[in-house]
Formats: sequence, C-alpha cells, structure tokens
Amino acid sequence: MAARRPARSFVVGAYVTAVAVLGAVGLALVVVQTDWAQTLAQVPVWAVAFLVLAALIGEIKPLSVTRGDEPAEAVSSSTPFIVALISVGGLGIALGAQLVASVADDVLRRRPATKSLFNLGQYAISVIAGRVVFAALAGHPVFGPPMTVGMRDVLPLLVGGAVLVLVNRLLVAVVVALAVRQPLGIVVGQDARFFAATTGVLLCVGAVAANVASSGVVFLFLLCAPAVAVYGMTKVAVRHAHQATHDSLTGLGNRDRLQTQLTHALAAAADDPAAGPGLVMLDLDHFKDINDTLGHPVGDELLRNVAHRLDAVIGGTRQANRLGGDEFAVVVAGGLVDCEALARDLLAALEAPTQVGELELLVRASAGVAVAPAHGTDAATLMKNADIALYQAKLDRDRTCVYSEQFDAHTLERLGLLADLRAALDTGQLSVAYQPQVDLTDRRTVGVEALVRWRHPVRGQVPPDSFIPLAEKSGLIAAVTAFVLNTALGDLARWRAEGHRLRMAVNLSARHLSDLALPRQVLDALQRHGVPAGDLVLEVTETGLLSDPARADVVIAELRRIGVGIAVDDYGTGHASLNYLKRLEIDELKVDRSFVSDMDRDRHDFVIVRSTITLARDLGLRVIAEGVQEEETAVSLQALGCGIGQGYHLARPTTSAEIGRRLHAEQPRGGARPAATTGGTLPRPRPGTQA
Ligand code: C2E
Ligand code: CA
Ligand code: CA
Repeated sequence: MAARRPARSFVVGAYVTAVAVLGAVGLALVVVQTDWAQTLAQVPVWAVAFLVLAALIGEIKPLSVTRGDEPAEAVSSSTPFIVALISVGGLGIALGAQLVASVADDVLRRRPATKSLFNLGQYAISVIAGRVVFAALAGHPVFGPPMTVGMRDVLPLLVGGAVLVLVNRLLVAVVVALAVRQPLGIVVGQDARFFAATTGVLLCVGAVAANVASSGVVFLFLLCAPAVAVYGMTKVAVRHAHQATHDSLTGLGNRDRLQTQLTHALAAAADDPAAGPGLVMLDLDHFKDINDTLGHPVGDELLRNVAHRLDAVIGGTRQANRLGGDEFAVVVAGGLVDCEALARDLLAALEAPTQVGELELLVRASAGVAVAPAHGTDAATLMKNADIALYQAKLDRDRTCVYSEQFDAHTLERLGLLADLRAALDTGQLSVAYQPQVDLTDRRTVGVEALVRWRHPVRGQVPPDSFIPLAEKSGLIAAVTAFVLNTALGDLARWRAEGHRLRMAVNLSARHLSDLALPRQVLDALQRHGVPAGDLVLEVTETGLLSDPARADVVIAELRRIGVGIAVDDYGTGHASLNYLKRLEIDELKVDRSFVSDMDRDRHDFVIVRSTITLARDLGLRVIAEGVQEEETAVSLQALGCGIGQGYHLARPTTSAEIGRRLHAEQPRGGARPAATTGGTLPRPRPGTQA
C-alpha cells in the first residue's frame, strides 16, 4: 500500500548517508593502513604532482553540459589520471587526489554539503574498489607503496580502472533512480554506449600515463596532447548529444527528451497503476499575436522568460520541455491530483507581467492534462491526449482541462476542419452571400448583411456557426474577415456604380475589437473600393464589446471617427449590462431572431421586442429586427415602430448577382434611388464622414 511505503526523500537520505559513512570508513582505513613514510620516500614526485594537478583540472572541467546540480559522474576527464595514480602513486595518494579534486569542484559549484559528502563517499568507495581489483590481478598489496607500471600491470590496471568507473556510475545511478522513481536498469542504461566508448578511451590514456610516468614528467607532458584532444572530442560529442535532446532557444528539453522521460516514467510506474505518470501540456494564449505585432526577437525573449519561470516552479527532479512554438510540457511522476496541482502552479507562475526590454507583457496560458493509465499507456498516446485536452481548454476558455474520451471525435473533427479552412482561404472555397435588410413600409432593400459561405470540397456547405468559432480561436478569423470585407465592399462599389444606394453590414468577431490595427485596415479597404465610410456598418456582439472593454472602446471610437456605423448584433442575448449603450456611440440595434420569430405567439418575446424598439428609438438608434419569418411578424414590427426587418420571409441570403437583379427590379423607373436613409432613425449628429 502506498501509505506504508517510506517517503522517497527518507530512502534517498538513508542511501546518501550510507554511502558517505562507508566512504569515510574506507578513507580512515586507507589513512591508517598506508605506510606514509615509505610512500613519500618512493614516490616519483614530479610525475605524481603532474598527475594530481591533471586530475584536479579534469574534475573541475567536466565533460557534461548539464552537470550543474547533479551528483558527480563517472565519466570525468580526471578519470585517466586517477587510474594512473592508483598504480604510480599508491592508494593513499590516488584517493587523496580524487577527494581534493572532488571538494574543489563541489566548492566551485557551490553544491550543498550533503551532495558534497555523498560525492566524497562514492569517490572513496570507487577508488578503493579500483585499487583492490588492480592489486589482486597484478599481485601487489592493496596498501602497497608507489610502483613503476610495466607491461604485465597494464591489463590489471585497465580492469581496475573499469571497476572504479563502474562502481562510481552505479552508486550515482542508485541515487538518481531513487529520486526520480525509475528502475535502476533504465538509469544505468542511459547513454550506455556513449559512456562505454568514452570510458574506454579515458582508461587507455590512463594506462599509458601510468606507464610513461616512470620515464619522467616529459613523457607525461607529451601525453597531454592526446588527452586534450580526447577531452575536446568528447566535449563536442556531449554537446551534440545535448543539442539533440534540448531546445536551443530556451535550453529546456525538446520533444524527443519529453518522449524519453515519458517512456521511462511509464516503465517506472508499470507495477503501480495509481502512480501515473501524467503529462501536463501548456500553450501560451495569443502568442502568435505578440510574435506578429512585436516581432520575433520579442517573441523569443518572452519564450525564454516563460521557460525560466516554468523551470523555477518545477524544480527538483521534474523538467520542463519545449515542444516547439509556444508549447511546453512536463512529465509528472504521479497521478491526476499531482498533475492538476502542477498545472495550476505553472499557470499561476505565468500570471505576473513579463518584462521584455521596455515592454511589460501579460501572457496567459492554457493547460491540458493526460494521466496514465486512464488516458493512455504509451508515450505517444499520452502526448496526443494531453494535446487534445489542451485544445479543449482553449475552446472552452477553461484554463486547465483533463483529457476525456468525449473530446476525441469532436476535437479531431474540428482540427481537421481547421486545417481545411486554412486551405479554403487560399483556394477560393469561401464566398460571401448577402441577406437583404428591408424597409418594412415599402419593402425595399435598404441594406444587406454579408454572410460568409464555405463550400468544402468533401463536406459540401459548412455552416458559419461551425467554422467561425474555430477561426476565432485559431486566429484565422482575421483572414476570413479581411476576405469578407474586401468582397463585400467590392460588390457594394459595383452596386453603387449602377446607381444603387444601400448599406453593407459586415460581422466582426470579438477578437477584432481588441485589435487596434482594425480601424486602419477598414479605412484602407474603404479607400481601395472608393466606398464612403457611412455605407459600411460593422456588426459586433455584446460579448465582443465586453470581453476586452478598454480596447473595444478605443477601436469603436476610432471606427466611429472614420465614419463607419456600428451595430449591436444579436441584441438581447448577451446578458450584458446596458452600460455600453451609454459609453459607446452605437448606430444600430439588431434584435435577435430568437425574440422576433415568435413574438406574435409568445407574450414574453413580444414585450422584449417592443421595449427594445422603444429603447432604440429613445436613444436615437436604428433598429433592425432579425429572423422575420412570417408576414404577421413584419406587420407587428412595423406597428411597433421598427423600420427595418431581416429574415427568411423578407429575403434569404443570396448571391451578389441575385442582389444586383433585386436592386435593379426595385429601382424606380427614371433613375437611381437616393441613399438609404429610411429605418425609423432620428437624425443623429455623426462625426465627419470620409471614405
Ligand atoms: P448572424 O450575424 O446573426 O447572421 C444572421 C444569421 O441568421 C445568418 O445565418 C442568416 O442566414 C440567418 N437568418 C437570416 N434570416 C433568418 C430567419 O428568418 N430565420 C432563421 N432561423 N435564420 C435566419 P448564417 O449565415 O448561418 O450565419 C450564422 C452566424 O455566423 C451569423 O449570425 C454570424 O454570427 C456568423 N457569421 C456569418 N458570416 C460571418 C462573417 O463573415 N464573419 C463573422 N465574424 N461571422 C459571421
Ligand atoms: Ca450579424
Ligand atoms: Ca444576428
């Protein structure tokens, strides 16, 4: 039972203590047993001094790039010199050199005392083990004095050196395995081939060094060249290995590394189904906007800051990885509760504004969680499902979402649709339909609403309600709106050229209202088509006005300054306070079709429509009733003072050619109609209307 198992930190602590104590005992034994007088008398002073110095330098210049805080590793460039010292200097001197080097390294790297003691312990044990094996094979006493290394000592020395390195690696691997709860086999097996190759080369250098030491220090100096070359080559190899598994921008692990971590964690938890592991995936919200508007250097810096913050939260044995773009992931050796707690902490860590150069940026993120074995039992499935959960979190605007099977079909379908929409924009599958807005008195067309249409090569017509929300969440909506605006103004310009005057209504998404560049784009489009700003109405929803009110106010005010009309779409469905009506200059209210369609049968609906019309009239706004599906409704609306209707009964959305014919048919004989001014609007002062 999990509760009975001793806490991990206790086991690690006990093990570290045991190694340190055992090492201390070994050290004491060596100090006592060594005949120091004889050793010092026989030692080849210069050669040994050289080897000790080389060992010290080798220890301080590690081969690994990731070494910072981890226990000292077996493969160190001090290895060949310690191996040589085992024979040339004797056990006492070899151990002394190794321990001094280890302390120097730990002090330089400010390792905590416990780690330093552990390092001393494991080095003492491994050096003693190496010497014991060498002495046994070569037929020398373990605590014997310094010696010259001849041909028959070389093989025992290589074997003794190998034992030294292996014992060292094993002692370190156990502490890692305990700390990260991975099977020992996996930890030892990591980079085994690379480890074996490097060790082999280092041991050979060590054996040669031992042999030439008796010929004088000059030969040892000559040996420096190949030693330095080996060091350089190994360093490059280590760096390459690091690059292959790390992200160069942030220094975090990459997708490959995540996959390895996950595979190991799965193996470690195989016999305990409650232990997870889990995967927390994280994605920044609107990172693309930041990248696009502020430039890549700012985006890069932001990613580095984010990586730094994630790292600070995670700490310990977990590691953050960057999967590319603005996606990050962490493997959690634990169940759902641990994962959700970590997801919360990670998101909270990103909450505070981030300083990038002069800028203070606010980044938020969403998180998706998948936990083994419920959400997958292999790395690939867990990664896929955490990704799906992440996507769902974005769609639902929840910050964290745990994977559920229900997302699957839905999400895959939507992901597919999103990819298709990208292609649709480039291959002309989108078009624009226009639905007339009709003056209820004389039934003439006073405006049209532009409605995007998508004819999918396989699915046929895809309704906007199913792809517009996707486009909004993915940022593709900007391209969709630009397309609709451009097409609509092009058609409007043609109708104008034929002498027709009418308003063009184009739908905006909530997202546009926080885009300060929007007014400029609208103005450009108007100028490109030579259409006066007053003929364009942009429809926004109450939710859009309220989701980022500070920016929405600026954007709306600027659009109004240009002279573009603003309509509140789906009026009455937003559950919003009417405060914005006071704050913003709105031109038009569109009563939602859910109230209009049934107003003649449903008393509630009738009252809502009536009071909306009264409100609009009192505020001097134009009011349009949507969803007029019956003649009766049209008549009632007119009686209530609503001037304009839109709905299937009056006209269905149709092609621009059809609208052209309709306008032509409506045209009174003998000339063009005046501009659309009907619609029960009180005259209202407007800011300068320029194209
Ligand atoms: P909406 O802005 O409320 O647009 C009116 C919708 O009501 C249109 O559906 C229209 O065909 C439908 N409709 C018109 N008269 C009647 C009627 O009498 N009865 C009923 N039941 N429905 C009627 P559509 O074209 O499917 O568009 C649905 C929604 O998709 C739109 O609602 C709008 O929110 C969004 N949308 C459409 N085109 C665009 C666009 O270009 N950009 C953006 N951002 N959103 C768009
Ligand atoms: Ca609309
Ligand atoms: Ca509407």
